Amino acid sequence: MKIKIIGGGPAGMYFAILMKRARGGHEITIYERNGPDDTFGWGVVFSGKTLAALRRADEPSHAEITRDFEAWDNVDVVHGGDKISIHGNSFSGIARIRLLKILQRRCEELGIAMHFHRDIADVDSVKSDCDLVIDADGVNSFVRESFKQHFQPELSSRPNKYIWYGTNQLFHGLTLTFRETPAGVFAAHSYKFDKTTSTFIVECDPQTWSNAGFGEKPEAETRAYLAEVFAPDVKGHPLLSNNSKWINFVLVKNGRWSSENVALLGDALHTAHFSIGSGTKLAMEDAIALKRCFDDTSDVSVALRRFEEVRKPVIEDYQAAAYESMVWFENARQYMNLDPLALAYSLMTRSKRIDYDTLKRRDPAFIAAYESADMKA
Ligand SMILES: Cc1cc2nc3c(=O)[nH]c(=O)nc-3n(C[C@H](O)[C@H](O)[C@H](O)COP(=O)(O)OP(=O)(O)OC[C@H]3O[C@@H](n4cnc5c(N)ncnc54)[C@H](O)[C@@H]3O)c2cc1C
Repeated sequence: MKIKIIGGGPAGMYFAILMKRARGGHEITIYERNGPDDTFGWGVVFSGKTLAALRRADEPSHAEITRDFEAWDNVDVVHGGDKISIHGNSFSGIARIRLLKILQRRCEELGIAMHFHRDIADVDSVKSDCDLVIDADGVNSFVRESFKQHFQPELSSRPNKYIWYGTNQLFHGLTLTFRETPAGVFAAHSYKFDKTTSTFIVECDPQTWSNAGFGEKPEAETRAYLAEVFAPDVKGHPLLSNNSKWINFVLVKNGRWSSENVALLGDALHTAHFSIGSGTKLAMEDAIALKRCFDDTSDVSVALRRFEEVRKPVIEDYQAAAYESMVWFENARQYMNLDPLALAYSLMTRSKRIDYDTLKRRDPAFIAAYESADMKA
């Protein structure tokens, strides 16, 4: 089969790897607008369950990913001066650039052609001379826009503002920190992803953003302002920028997932709020699911129909959980009167995927402390 892939992110490269492994005769080409060393963002997270799926799908890249990643089992909630740790939540982090380099090397090893600095602006010319086009060009997908009559995308830009920084302060575990200031409430989502660096995403509601004057503040002043807000947490370390800008999260859904021989994959197809740390995971799991649909057939339309049938319910379920989580953070201000244990409980159960019984099983000491604080109140 002749396959062309637009976008050399995790979704596009991982699908190429899995298809080429399955059948060496496939002719696969990836077009990526950036260079091999350009990236944005800091670390990406995977759950224990996702890592097991990656091992089953491709052992060599799984071995590389897990060679020196950072693993933890706690979520820490910091509110006021208190930190509450909740255990039993297995996650690990790796730098996005490291993940991309591992996948690039694996593509090269398998004989997949990767063309960097190739910005695809004409989909018709790509789709005419191949059997399958994978549109893995990310959240602002140009291909999805070009075929919007067919894909029927639904995009909704959410009200909160967020900005993706790094820091050399190491956060052992997923740490959710809340700081109340005269401007309003700021939340930080942080976790370490290598020996020296943590991801540090700051989120706030539009009122707080405007009260703090971020619309007019130059980048360096914004960073200094936020380092001051989170001074007790970053402990003197500066916030590190990687072309970091305030953005609004865009929730992406598509009415249809493919058009003729063109299929959407990863962020181009769907997004889930970063507070459940799942963009990269979902992109790679999409690749696994789509490759499986080609295991029993080489008929592109049959496989693409099957992909939508089996994967859509999984994504809808995930997006529903991520939606609850996103809305919790959009309304963070209203939870600030809770004591730290009650806030931690509310946070842990926000997506409705984890309930009282799950928490009691994972961390009985946390539930005991929560109940005893509740009785005193
Ligand atoms: C600013 C920002 C920072 C982020 N940082 C993190 C992070 O630190 N950790 C994390 O887990 N997630 C992060 N995410 C989310 C994460 O990047 C995605 O959920 C995940 O990478 C999805 O994988 P993907 O392959 O579908 O898309 P992407 O990783 O976005 O890959 C799409 C690729 O397509 C390329 N492309 C786009 N258009 C074209 C075109 N016309 N022609 C050729 N190539 C094209 C892009 O250059 C890109 O390499 C971030 C998102 C944003 C917007």
